[in-house]
Amino acid sequence: MGRSAIKRVCKKVSKKEPASPSKKPAGKNKDPSPDPAPHHTFTSEETETLRKELLTWYDRCKRDLPWRRLAAAEMDANRRAYSVWVSEVMLQQTQVSTVIDYYTKWMKTWPTVEDLAAASLEEVNEKWSGLGYYSRGRRLQEGAQKVVRDLGGQMPRTAEALQKLLPGVGRYTAGAVASISYGQVTGVVDGNVIRVLCRLRRIGADCTSPPVADALWNLANDLVDPDRPGDFNQAMMELGATVCTPKRALCGECPLQSLCRAYKKVELESASSIRNLVDRRADAPIGSDIEDCGECRAVSRSASDGATGLTPS
Ligand code: SF4
Repeated sequence: MGRSAIKRVCKKVSKKEPASPSKKPAGKNKDPSPDPAPHHTFTSEETETLRKELLTWYDRCKRDLPWRRLAAAEMDANRRAYSVWVSEVMLQQTQVSTVIDYYTKWMKTWPTVEDLAAASLEEVNEKWSGLGYYSRGRRLQEGAQKVVRDLGGQMPRTAEALQKLLPGVGRYTAGAVASISYGQVTGVVDGNVIRVLCRLRRIGADCTSPPVADALWNLANDLVDPDRPGDFNQAMMELGATVCTPKRALCGECPLQSLCRAYKKVELESASSIRNLVDRRADAPIGSDIEDCGECRAVSRSASDGATGLTPS
């Protein structure tokens, strides 16, 4: 998939809380959406390989981030969920490098949901100052007050309840908090995950359209590792943030290269070009799965899959 195609596919999707057209709670989509084409899904064998390779890579390469340290060390589920919730809200629309300092100071000032609930709005705005999108801090505080006032100080324990009960918590944040804090087996879809999935399965359709967004959520829910859902979700996002990046995919460092249809396509095209140079035979077939797919045809017609942000090695 070419850079232009990927940009077109994902340009309307924000970093977090991407289009969630049907506003469904996290978990399996039960709507009778049409089944995706087989080449846009994974076999059970591929799914097992993907989980194993991705988690092995994540254990070796993951960035050392304060919210990850806190979540790993915190034994109290309530405090853990609160600490993950704060990090996920701060990371919406803001770079990791910027969030680190804000997060560290915030958690030092308000280490529990009760502490945040007792803070004044002025204090919250002051602590948020410089991070932008102030409504995020305000909604965090409103949510903390709701937890203390209406829920007996207990953070909601499932993705569905988080999304339903906490202000500003959408499908992505609910899934991230529930999988990382409680080990709920539910996938997440943000801009990074969309990019990785679209490249892995060469999905060229508009991911802001409801059926495609639902298909991506279903794919994420099918792929998530049942034993380590939180790590799996973070690994998918980490891969999109550090290896399968928007402008330059570092395929040579990618643990999922053997499963990647975009990579395979580029490799086949390179081999074909070399062959053409050598013997001028231009009739070698190139994988044509996107061209055969009604979901992707419109995009592939106007985009050259060979003009790439990929760097096969
Ligand atoms: S092989 Fe390349 S394009 Fe495919 S998922 Fe990995 S980094 Fe992304």
